[in-house]
Amino acid sequence: MIYPYECKTCGPFEVIKSVKEIDKPEQCPTCYIITKDRRIGLTRLGDVDNNPSYNPAFGKVINSKSHLRSELARMRDEGRDMIEVGNESPDKIHKHFESARAEKLKNSWEPAEKALHDWRNGR
Ligand SMILES: [Zn+2]
Repeated sequence: MIYPYECKTCGPFEVIKSVKEIDKPEQCPTCYIITKDRRIGLTRLGDVDNNPSYNPAFGKVINSKSHLRSELARMRDEGRDMIEVGNESPDKIHKHFESARAEKLKNSWEPAEKALHDWRNGR
C-alpha cells in the first residue's frame, strides 16, 4: 500500500509499507526529518467494523464486513474490480512498478536496436 506523507519543509512524499505500519512515523527522503503527518484523501474500503456507514466507493450504506465483501464480489462479477485497502501485498506493488519499468526500458531500446540492425544490413 502506498501512503502519502507531507514534510513541512519539502512537501509531499510517498512511502510503500504494510497497513500494520500505518501509524509509524516516516523520514522525509530529502531532509531526513521524521514526520507523522499522513495526508488524508484515500478512500478506505477496509474500515467497516460492523457499523453501518455510507461508503462513497459504492455510493451506498454498507452494513457489515460481509456486506462489504458481497458488494466487492458483485463488482468483480460486473468487471469492476476493486481491492480492499490493506489486503494487497507490498510485493505485488513492487512487481507492478518493476514490470512497468522493464516495459519502459524495452520500448526505449527497441527503436535503437532496429536502427543499428538496419545500418548493419546496409539499409
Ligand atoms: Zn523534508
